[in-house]
Amino acid sequence: MRSHLLNDATAEQYRRSVTDGVERVARKLATTRRPFTGATPDDLAPAVSAVDLDRPLGDTAAALDELEDLYLRDAVYFHHPRYLGHLNCPVVIPAVVGEAVLSAVNSSLDTWDQSAGGTLIERRLVDWTAGRIGLGPAADGVFTSGGTQSNLQALLLAREEAPTGDLAKLRIFTSECSHFSVQKSARLLGLGRSAVVSIPCDGDRRMQSVVLAAELARCAAEGLVPMAIVATAGTTDFGSIDPLPEIAALAAEYGAWMHVDAAYGCGLLASPTRRRLLDGIERADSVTVDYHKSFFQPVSSSAVLVRDGATLRHATYHADYLNPRRTVAERIPNQVDKSLQTTRRFDALKLWMTLRVMGADGVGRLFDEVCDLAAEGYGLLAADPRYDVVVRPSLSTLVFRYVPGPGASPEEVDRANLHARKALFASGEAVVAGTKVDGRQYLKFTLLNPETTAHDIAAVLDLIAGHAEQYLGENLVHAS
Ligand SMILES: *Cc1c(COP(=O)(O)O)cnc(C)c1O
Repeated sequence: MRSHLLNDATAEQYRRSVTDGVERVARKLATTRRPFTGATPDDLAPAVSAVDLDRPLGDTAAALDELEDLYLRDAVYFHHPRYLGHLNCPVVIPAVVGEAVLSAVNSSLDTWDQSAGGTLIERRLVDWTAGRIGLGPAADGVFTSGGTQSNLQALLLAREEAPTGDLAKLRIFTSECSHFSVQKSARLLGLGRSAVVSIPCDGDRRMQSVVLAAELARCAAEGLVPMAIVATAGTTDFGSIDPLPEIAALAAEYGAWMHVDAAYGCGLLASPTRRRLLDGIERADSVTVDYHKSFFQPVSSSAVLVRDGATLRHATYHADYLNPRRTVAERIPNQVDKSLQTTRRFDALKLWMTLRVMGADGVGRLFDEVCDLAAEGYGLLAADPRYDVVVRPSLSTLVFRYVPGPGASPEEVDRANLHARKALFASGEAVVAGTKVDGRQYLKFTLLNPETTAHDIAAVLDLIAGHAEQYLGENLVHAS
């Protein structure tokens, strides 16, 4: 069994095995004609259940053969131009090379003595990102597993920096369109059930700063403490960007921590043409960025950045075996001092490879392309009488619904849209997302693939309309 350990004696075996795996994925990429096969859990479960995990196959080629049936054949492929579902991006090759390197070397970024140069590379990227945001000379941060963890850590710092330790008094203000990880974080941080104050959005799905101001004043009058305002720069559903300058001014006025959740919108930091959409982000106390959303990085790649690096001490604990206190005096860079995680992947290497090969402009231009495509798609939807579209996109999402002529009840329209989404997924021809707007069922395109064209969008709209019409037609038959 030692032949499976990666070391000096097995370098050749490593080369062959990994090449075999890469070869199969490459073949898959070259021959995949649909983003999905439409396989159901019932289709796949028997084969996965039937695998006897106590009887190994013994060699990589056999395990890869088996994987073809269990996973690769029916995986959901984000690189396909008709994958328009969630916030998943096709990945850039330099990042995939980085992924292969980091998993083989297997550095752990908790301490210098498990990573050496890896720690310095991560630190450079934290500084680079903070510089693009404009957080100033004291900024710092750390890579995380994703936006959820970044938001949690930012709110932990905000809680610790709040002027009171009375958790029942603390309030977090965020828009009704913000990510659910804000709510989740509040619970994990021991805040009360009413800690999160939801601020309504305007027609463009941006936080209404007038209402925010009124709510801040109301809470202050009630003796409550505004712990944080969480602005979203790129809401998950609409890509809308909250009015950051107004929110920053209110945060300053009320002494609240300003967190900007730019999990989605962070791609603008690299955009050669749209960076100004993030104006005001430089006034944040903390920022969430998900490189695995708009920097075309493989999952996971994310970071939390803070204006004042000293606040990261709220995540610092010392263990004699790992990062004893003396290492601080010795100025040994141990990233675990800044992180909620201990053992931690060297995900930063993927972004490093990307920037070294393509440069920031290269990544930013890809994100610009999908934003341009969304604007084009909005034009198509707005001109199409079969569809109702919610907002002109700021980033790269389109939220819309199929609307039949008069006669169908709102419930039937909801069901027709839901049916169209499911039928499309089952056909594998395209993958789209769904969401609710004002209680009604809508559909969503999240455009993150620069290979997707306006022709793809038009074709998928025809498919959706076909499924919805068929559903309504059949319903009519059943009803009569
Ligand atoms: C995706 C997303 C998150 C959560 O990030 P994960 O990487 O999925 O944990 C948080 N906020 C926003 C606005 C998001 O779009």
